Amino acid sequence: MRKKIVAGNWKMNLQFDQADDLLYEITSKLDNFSKKVEVVICPPSVFLELATDYAEDSIIKIGAQNVSQYNAGAYTGEISAAMLNSMDVSFCIIGHSERRKYFQESDQTLAAKVDQLLEQNIQPVFCIGEVLEERESNHHFEVVENQIVSGLFHLSADELSNVIIAYEPVWAIGTGRTATPDQAQEMHAFIRKILENKFGTELSHSLSILYGGSCNASNAAELFSQKDVDGGLIGGASLKAEDFIQIINSF
Ligand code: PEP
Repeated sequence: MRKKIVAGNWKMNLQFDQADDLLYEITSKLDNFSKKVEVVICPPSVFLELATDYAEDSIIKIGAQNVSQYNAGAYTGEISAAMLNSMDVSFCIIGHSERRKYFQESDQTLAAKVDQLLEQNIQPVFCIGEVLEERESNHHFEVVENQIVSGLFHLSADELSNVIIAYEPVWAIGTGRTATPDQAQEMHAFIRKILENKFGTELSHSLSILYGGSCNASNAAELFSQKDVDGGLIGGASLKAEDFIQIINSF
């Protein structure tokens, strides 16, 4: 059975004491039910050590928000996959629309980042999704398919089995406008089908496909009840312990 996952993307928010308080609140409030769900917290990289310390005594796992496409060396300001691995980071968000848009991350760069992570046994949370104009002009399936093909189709089936996919319609991120459960299900089923055509039924049905985009404590249960929605990548609502826990308990 594929894993249910709720991952929190803190983006560039909080300062050290606030991050400490939030990690404390989340880890102390997780109950037994949460054990059925993989809970991943992706803080800014400067708080990774703090977060992995909390993770030692908790069910939470820690993810980074970015990684370098390069191995090591003279790349000032970059963080390598080997560094993340050495800090017990087990996941990393890749291809978030904010990185595609504000940092011009190309499909080629993203594919290289996926490779770096997999070499270090870190699971990429590979984000894909269309902007509003693409949905409104009925190009959303084509856009998402292209993102999958360029980011993931070079992988072996074995490698792909360690990838988590996050469908995040860009028009829903941070806007308060969520995809309807039907829209999410339709796209998740499409994504699984594309992967099935290339990698086979067994593998595609074992992959977790998360929904992201204004998912919160009030709409998570309905989204997560969809057949092909295996959890969520949560931005704003992951910054409030109570909301985040409620989302985790929404399955
Ligand atoms: C995100 O940034 O991945 C995200 C889904 O943000 P939000 O939940 O705030 O829309």
